[in-house]
Amino acid sequence: MSINKVLAHCKFCGKMITLSLDADCPGFDLAKMLPLAACNRCADAARRTYQLRDQITSTGVRYHVQRQDPFLKPAERTEVDASARNRLVDLTKAFCRAVCDFHRQPHIWHSQLVDQILKAPDYAFVICKKYEQSFKPFRQPPAQAELAYEPGQDPF
Ligand SMILES: [Zn+2]
Repeated sequence: MSINKVLAHCKFCGKMITLSLDADCPGFDLAKMLPLAACNRCADAARRTYQLRDQITSTGVRYHVQRQDPFLKPAERTEVDASARNRLVDLTKAFCRAVCDFHRQPHIWHSQLVDQILKAPDYAFVICKKYEQSFKPFRQPPAQAELAYEPGQDPF
């Protein structure tokens, strides 16, 4: 068994990372694996936001299905609304905290996020993705080594 050190760029932030790879691993294709490399910070944040986004989406879908029940009494409907709202408030606060922490921004949460999800519960995933994408302007520029440059050509 021989371990090789390979340099790669994080697919999320562009930071240079060192990978320790077993050269004898059967079926391992370095060309396919390198574009998937991520630093620990980005991978942890991506996993955490994915889990919370998934929970928010499933809560929204469950709420959407429960609201479709034609035999739901007004008191039960109110209870379903309150239950979904409470769960979504907790989940969206955790989701916003995870996204803001990753982008090193102050925590931004507003109850309108929950209102939007309750208004269109089947679009909960899209609403969460839009929230995440709103932080893109704060991202760091990619590492200089990632930019394509052919020797002998004027880069500008
Ligand atoms: Zn990264």
